[in-house]
Amino acid sequence: MLTLNPIALEQFASDNYSGICPEALEYMLQANHGSAPAYGDDIWTQKATDYFRDLFETDCEVFFVFNGTAANALSLAALCQSYHSVICHETAHVETDECGAPEFASNGSKLLLGKGQNGKLTPEAIATIVQKRTDIHYPKPKALSLTQATELGTLYTVDELLAIQSVAERYQLRIHMDGARFANAVAAMDVTPAEITWRCGVDVLCFCGTKNGMAIGEAIIFFNRSLAEDFAYRCKQAGQLASKMRFISAPWLGLLETGAWLRNAQHANRCAAYLEQQLSSLPGVEILSPREANGVFVSLPETAIDALRNKGWLFYNFIGTEGVRFMCSWATTTARIDQFVQDIKTALAATRSVNAHPEVEDSVAPVLQERP
Ligand SMILES: *Cc1c(COP(=O)(O)O)cnc(C)c1O
Repeated sequence: MLTLNPIALEQFASDNYSGICPEALEYMLQANHGSAPAYGDDIWTQKATDYFRDLFETDCEVFFVFNGTAANALSLAALCQSYHSVICHETAHVETDECGAPEFASNGSKLLLGKGQNGKLTPEAIATIVQKRTDIHYPKPKALSLTQATELGTLYTVDELLAIQSVAERYQLRIHMDGARFANAVAAMDVTPAEITWRCGVDVLCFCGTKNGMAIGEAIIFFNRSLAEDFAYRCKQAGQLASKMRFISAPWLGLLETGAWLRNAQHANRCAAYLEQQLSSLPGVEILSPREANGVFVSLPETAIDALRNKGWLFYNFIGTEGVRFMCSWATTTARIDQFVQDIKTALAATRSVNAHPEVEDSVAPVLQERP
């Protein structure tokens, strides 16, 4: 077994800032012995695909692509015609962070944005959107996109998913799940992968490997196999068919066979819980949404945010100027969290003393816009 040193970067920016976990790297190196058939006709891809079928307890169709944007955009395009629309939460990554890729890949299927607390769509919000317009002049809602865990670090419970399934059935909407942090959801909810996907009516899941510990690579899993018809051609046309596919599928097999996919997620979730626990008792820190997976969303005074950035800590602004997101990954350590919390305490204390002497000008640091 290889060992990796944790990345020295001072960061709680994203789980995709982390490196490759040992299990994924080990299998990638094993796949590097000799030659293998290209374009997915290799043993690694076959084994990883079969492993997904075991893990999800169903005969699903599996495809491997490079990143999450491609996985979401291509799978949504498979659920829709260009004159259809996709209902998603207003904070959904497909809306806010994919540069219009879902609309592009589907030749124009419009995203319709719904509201809901803590990043979650509700059956009521979905029904309202569907009922708003039913005439020929408006793109017909055909799919729902749910993010699990959500962009605000929360989780759809099984009951919430079942309620959404029933509204989806009522309006004949197909269900897409953006599983950028699907492993974190499974780990946090203590459910089987099947229980929060096809057993709740999910037609297609984009299961993210990158944020879980791989270098690159997402699995697109069609539980509704008829929707996967000709999907391989769609991937190829979009430039998403890796010729050396084994270097995506072998690390997946490494995560799956060794159980690292779940351990990595459990570790990241525990780190986030620990960070949240440390922060919740600090005056000046407000928890913005319930910490349910591997992200902690808090508000901090802007001066404290600037001070932390000046110390070299990387993290994203998420909600307004005082809302920030702290993301944990497989590589996060409690030592690093302790250091971070210490710096937050120092920054808050400095903020309080500045506030006691308001003639001192606040410094302004640049705000990162991108939020992977
Ligand atoms: C990271 C992420 C993705 C994938 O993003 P890529 O940069 O395209 O890999 C998709 N959805 C959500 C919610 C994400 O956080």
